[in-house]
Amino acid sequence: MSTKWTHAICNDCWDARNPNGRTPHRLKDPEPEYCCFCNEPTISGIYVRSDPEKTPCKGQGGRLHEEDG
Ligand SMILES: [Zn+2]
Ligand SMILES: [Zn+2]
Repeated sequence: MSTKWTHAICNDCWDARNPNGRTPHRLKDPEPEYCCFCNEPTISGIYVRSDPEKTPCKGQGGRLHEEDG
């Protein structure tokens, strides 16, 4: 349940959602993902917590959600 709140986000969407240029936490060894916000492939290694009801993927997009079972 908790991982539905964790979403992959690409560099472009991160920048769009963080106009102040906040530095994201990135995985050291990022894996290819689909951005939960624009659905484009990304290897940004950035993940954000966001209410699935308010996120374009609705908790359904991205590889993390598949692992959630
Ligand atoms: Zn998502
Ligand atoms: Zn994106």
